Amino acid sequence: MHIEVRNLDKHFGNFHAVKDVSFEIEKGRLIGLLGPSGGGKTSILRMLAGLEQPDSGEILFHGERVNELAPQERGIGFVFQSYALFKHMTVFDNIAFGLQVKKVPKQTIKERVMELVELTGLKGFERRYPHQLSGGQRQRVAFARALAPEPQLLLLDEPFAAIDAKIRQELRAWLRELIERVGITSIFVTHDQDEAIEVADEIMIISEGRMEQKGSPWDIYREPSTPFVASFIGQSTLVDDPSELRGFEAEVAASQAKALIRPEYIEIGSERDFSLLSATAAGVVKHVHFRGSEWLVEVEVGGNVLTTFRSLEKETLQIGQEIRVLIHRVYLYNEERSWIVENP
Ligand code: ATP
Repeated sequence: MHIEVRNLDKHFGNFHAVKDVSFEIEKGRLIGLLGPSGGGKTSILRMLAGLEQPDSGEILFHGERVNELAPQERGIGFVFQSYALFKHMTVFDNIAFGLQVKKVPKQTIKERVMELVELTGLKGFERRYPHQLSGGQRQRVAFARALAPEPQLLLLDEPFAAIDAKIRQELRAWLRELIERVGITSIFVTHDQDEAIEVADEIMIISEGRMEQKGSPWDIYREPSTPFVASFIGQSTLVDDPSELRGFEAEVAASQAKALIRPEYIEIGSERDFSLLSATAAGVVKHVHFRGSEWLVEVEVGGNVLTTFRSLEKETLQIGQEIRVLIHRVYLYNEERSWIVENP
């Protein structure tokens, strides 16, 4: 289903929870709503579902306004963080529930449930009760139940938040595959950037009720449109003192921009590691921290402490050691625009 949201606005009392949010979603896409807690993600999802009414703005499914439709008339499936399965019903009956409500013929229900049991990898578990399942299995039942009535939009609110890290990792891959196979337009809320990057075709970054940016994970990572996005997706350091940013200092000063740097665009080494033409700056190693597959290094350049990574093979750096620092790329933001500058 094609989704369009125009100028959605919502207050709770005096609190402005959703501020003029607009977006479009193509049919069959998997969208991640990502942002800090309290930013308004769930409120947007609930308005799409019809569980909450916007103060103003329009919601269109297939180009038709649905603001006035009740939740059950919108053709939506839900999966929430808490499993919300019926405890006294078997897996089969949980999945069949929405179809029974719709008075679908028994034989059709049976076929549809078995199809979903197969699709969600729950074959052999049909007669079990929720308490006889693991957290991951219960959440798969929740997906099967949501998909059973063949909704045209699937809304997922932190579907894996209650599940431990290893299983959550497996479920992410599983979800991607499931959504691809079913081909259903889906929106999921998360505050976990790794989850959004791994699972979503497109991410919408929501903060303080506003849409900060929408795009593919790769585009957002490469070209974060605000300092908030640059620090929320991936790592970056805000530069306090641009005077020592060799190669960028003139541009930063002239445009009165905020400058952010990602770790992978900072290269460190000794004098002989760089060509004489490179605009390196003098730095001092402040902190070195082992992260498993690499070292995280904090290096002081002028009044800034920049974070970068170094691979394992290289010799260990000493705290206080003087090194050269080459910055390859800087993200700049001022009142008017955002742009990227590369060191030649
Ligand atoms: P989280 O990740 O914590 O769920 P979120 O981004 O989904 O956060 P929302 O749940 O949409 O954020 O909440 C946005 C803000 O609106 C919060 O400050 C919340 O306290 C407030 N809010 C949400 N629902 C209500 C309500 N029914 N009444 C009053 N305030 C509400």
